[in-house]
Amino acid sequence: MNLLKTHGIVLRVAKYGESDKLITFYTTTAGRITGIAKGAQKSKRRFVNKLEEFTHLHIYCQPPRAPQGLFFISEAELLAAHLSLRTDVHRYVSAAYICDLFVRFTRDSDPDPQLYALLKWAMTALEQDKWPYRIVALTHLHLLGIAGYRPEINLCNHCRRPITATCSYMLLPGSGALLCNLCNSSGSLSLPRLSIHTLRLLATGQALPFNRLHHLHFTRKAIIESLSALYVYSLHLLQQDIHSWRTLCSLGFAHDAAPPGLTKQNSPTFLPPSHHRDHTISSP
Ligand SMILES: [Zn+2]
Repeated sequence: MNLLKTHGIVLRVAKYGESDKLITFYTTTAGRITGIAKGAQKSKRRFVNKLEEFTHLHIYCQPPRAPQGLFFISEAELLAAHLSLRTDVHRYVSAAYICDLFVRFTRDSDPDPQLYALLKWAMTALEQDKWPYRIVALTHLHLLGIAGYRPEINLCNHCRRPITATCSYMLLPGSGALLCNLCNSSGSLSLPRLSIHTLRLLATGQALPFNRLHHLHFTRKAIIESLSALYVYSLHLLQQDIHSWRTLCSLGFAHDAAPPGLTKQNSPTFLPPSHHRDHTISSP
């Protein structure tokens, strides 16, 4: 079988046996693939500093003989180490959450150039941006759009009124559409709230190409509202846990480096819906 030569970003690394590693990549030509790197745990030369989380690589691997089998990774060249994503805790939890989302929203050997471009942009932006959590929110928003689950955030899906500053909104997990507080007057739904400010930021974010997203300024409140709503929506779509969310909350939401004007005291919290209450949401 032909050797696969492709560019890829490492989504996940796991030890395998005494000396091998299992690596999951998102690649340009094959989409998500998982390969085995023989001897990579002990190799001092061949794979050193390459098969690490979030690295951008040129990889050479042998495709599996069976459809569900593992690729055999024979060589890797480093294109970008993204070292600060593994040394700074806030960048690390941000990158880990994005990679977790990519693992869950993609399938094996189903390449999408837009998804690859988004992941490549996200890893670079996380290294450079002062506020990594806004990169997480914007990446999650675009990932949902590319995957076919673009949230509809311009009007209330029930009364059909355009979003307004006098209302607050919830993103309905079943449809990805909004419900205003007037249409939920009984208060029967308990979901993360989205303010008009956050919704306008997200709508602008949806319309902008990746390379212009850094112009959007997110307050701490907007980051928390965005991440919380997109998380609950994604849980419903995936019907499975997103494990790194807990770490993102406990480290990320609790961190002290809040943008000016927002303190821990005035940051919002939310109670996840009853069927999601096994997930710990830390109070900021
Ligand atoms: Zn309404």
